[in-house]
This record gives sequence, C-alpha cells and structure tokens, in this order.
Amino acid sequence: MKIVTRFAPSPTGELHLGSAYSAWTGWHRAREADGVFLVRIEDIDIRRCRREFEHAILADLTWLGFRWDGAVRRQSEHFADYGRVLDQLDQRGFVYPCFCSRADIAREIAAAAGAPHGPDGPHYPGTCRHLPLEQRRARLRAAEEHCLRLDAAKAAAEVGAYHFFDETRGRIEGEPLLLGDFVIARKDTPTSYHLAVTVDDHLQGVTLVTRGEDVLPSTHVHVLLQRLLGYETPLYAHHRLLTDATGRRFAKRDRDMTIRALRESGLSPQQVIDRALQMAGEAVT
Ligand code: GLU
Repeated sequence: MKIVTRFAPSPTGELHLGSAYSAWTGWHRAREADGVFLVRIEDIDIRRCRREFEHAILADLTWLGFRWDGAVRRQSEHFADYGRVLDQLDQRGFVYPCFCSRADIAREIAAAAGAPHGPDGPHYPGTCRHLPLEQRRARLRAAEEHCLRLDAAKAAAEVGAYHFFDETRGRIEGEPLLLGDFVIARKDTPTSYHLAVTVDDHLQGVTLVTRGEDVLPSTHVHVLLQRLLGYETPLYAHHRLLTDATGRRFAKRDRDMTIRALRESGLSPQQVIDRALQMAGEAVT
C-alpha cells in the first residue's frame, strides 16, 4: 500500500520553523517511501484564517522544496462533506446541541466541584446533555445560538475498547473521555477541527499522520470518531515540538523564526531545514 502523508496548516499566520519541521516530517516520509504527500489548508475558522497567509505558506513550502501531490484541499470548500457526517452522527444519537455560553460553562464547572479534567482543562460538565427533550426542541425552534457536542460516553459505549499506534510510542490505548463531550460543530461553523480532520484524513486516504505531539490528546478522539464511522485508522507519528533556548515552543508570534525571516537573513532552504532538524535532534540530511 502506498504511504500517504499530509501537512495541514491553519492559515492564521506565516510558516515558522516549527511548522516547517512538521511539513518536513510528512514530506520526507512520503518521499523516502515513494509515497504521496498532500497539503491541506485547515481554514474552517473563517474569522482567523486569511488567504494571504495561505499563499505565503504555500510559497514557503515551495521555497523549501517540499513539493506536494495533487491539488491543495481547502477545508472551507468542503463544509458539505462534514455536514453529511455530522447528520449521520446526529441521527444515530451521538450528538446534542449545547446552548451554554463560555460564562455559563465557567459557572457550571465551578459549581460541579471535582468535575473531570482533560489536558485542555476541565471538561464541559454536560449540562445540555441532560436538557429535557421538550426544552431542547423549544430552544432549537427559537433558533437559540448553540454548538453541537459529541456524547463521548455514549460513543465510548458503542465503540468499546480501541487503540492506535504511534511510531515512537507504540500501542496507545484509546481514552474516549479524554476531552469530555468535545465540540463537533461550532456555533459559527458547521464543523470543528476534530470532525474536519477525521473526515478529511479518511477521504484523502491518509495512511500516516505526522504532526506535533501537542495534538496527541486529540488523536484519542479522532480514533474514536473513526471507529464510530467505520473508517480505517492511520498510523500516527507525533513529533516533538521545536523550542527556543528556554524551552518555550516556537509559535506564530516569533517573527525571527518565520521562514520568510530566515530566508531574508540569507539562509538557503537546506540551511533552514538543517537548522530545524538539528533542533529536533534528527540526523541532518
Ligand atoms: N491545523 C492543525 C494545526 O495547524 C493541524 C493539526 C493536524 O495536523 O491534524 O495545528
């Protein structure tokens, strides 16, 4: 089977050394195995994503020599794909509308002492999961603002025990409740990161997901969704994040670490790649 990898940036800023390393991992693994390397633009957050960042990211990838196969998939053009899957999950009873505002949730969490915590903080306490059906219907009829959440316990019961493989960590037992009842469609967008990534990795036939280890908790729920939907589970390779000398990870705010800044400082593409690999502790190519 041909290996298919992908790099999936959100165009909310320029490509920096950390994300270029992420791109390199996908591109390199595909190239090594004569596989396919895809680029996907994760722009469902239409308020924060900008077309000029997308163009700049693609130009930087080209400058670095990371050629991708086929057309770039832009998530904002595929809301219908996510909507179809969402409807299916809804019809099967795994989804419920949540009318809580941020302030409501903070209050509910404070009131529910000892509520479960995940890596991103306390879980949503499930208030709207318990709404009487009549009330739920009335609030939907009144077009009250809401997001949709996955009923994680119900999904977990349906799926049973599951696992996935990470190349360096080995077999990982799935923790379906790790993120609680996570958002599957946002108030302002008919999908969420978790849903869009799961659907796209499936539709694009991705066999190896290379991405930063900060996303590892999310992988537990992506695999949960894959099991619910009958999708194949790809292999994962969560890589370490590049950090500065103080151990702080590079982010979009580190302007001197953008690929543009490094290019303008006179470095060649190979020198930029070598710098990223050195920082990541990889053997320089
Ligand atoms: N759009 C996500 C990011 O920029 C990608 C995570 C992933 O590769 O699934 O962090």
